[in-house]
Amino acid sequence: MSNLYGSIEAGGTKFVLAVGDGELNIIKRITIPTRSPGETIKEVIDFFKDYSLKGIGLGSFGPADINKGSSTYGYITNTPKLSWNMYDIVGNLERALNVPIYFTTDVNAACYGEYVKGNAQGTKSCVYFTVGTGVGAGAINAGEFIQGFGHPEMGHMIVKQHHSDTYEGNCPFHKNCLEGLAAGPTIEDRLGIKGEQIEENNPVWDYIADYLAQAAYNTTLFLSPQVIIFGGGVMNQPYLLDKIKANFKELMNDYVATPDLNAYILQPELKDNAGTIGCLALAKKHFE
Ligand code: ADP
Ligand code: ZN
Repeated sequence: MSNLYGSIEAGGTKFVLAVGDGELNIIKRITIPTRSPGETIKEVIDFFKDYSLKGIGLGSFGPADINKGSSTYGYITNTPKLSWNMYDIVGNLERALNVPIYFTTDVNAACYGEYVKGNAQGTKSCVYFTVGTGVGAGAINAGEFIQGFGHPEMGHMIVKQHHSDTYEGNCPFHKNCLEGLAAGPTIEDRLGIKGEQIEENNPVWDYIADYLAQAAYNTTLFLSPQVIIFGGGVMNQPYLLDKIKANFKELMNDYVATPDLNAYILQPELKDNAGTIGCLALAKKHFE
């Protein structure tokens, strides 16, 4: 049998599909827009059906049921994208392709990519935040994802509002949780233009950096990981990482002796490939 693995990054706006070999080299990769499950899953099946794969790693937008004991294991659950609500993505793909699937969240997959081949390589524990359309995070400890009845939802942790930030927050569940104050669309909500177009000296970056520093601070106190990584579209602002580190240092006030911040709070080394590499590595780990 061939030594090939599949990767599916299922996102709310796009799906990234890839085939890779046992060394995690990407052999073929395409991106398709996320439409209804009927349309998109058909394209996924068409992409993979000519390959003989040992397994597929699937990192999905959530919330997703990744609890193997659950009757809705493998489903995308309570999503605002209504056509995907309670959709059995794993069952449908496994039946159509006859290939085993390892199912996890998109952020866990990206976390795993950085863990095997990126900026968390050689560590035993790391946390990966994505700051994009939403905020999400995955965590690895001793080589395994941290999860219990379900997956962590660190993107919705409560943070303290910055004293000058009057924005009420846009999370439909919590208003001013981390995602409600720091995800990309909150920037556009505050200022009427996208984050891409806002200059470095705008105070909004102080707010965003403060919230992400609080997230790193809480993560440090809860998990004490070896590395914390911030990825996602908003982190394309090149100075944001330094602002986060400065805020973090002030918040921590030398209470916990973390690793040097330049080796502790990082951006993803694999950039846009973190999720794909992670899914391939997870497929290899579980189905080799
Ligand atoms: P998704 O979360 O849908 O996978 P991204 O991670 O690319 O997608 O995040 C998209 C969000 O990131 C949008 O809100 C966009 O405005 C914001 N964004 C993209 N590039 C930048 C940038 N250079 N600076 C600030 N925000 C950005
Ligand atoms: Zn929330």
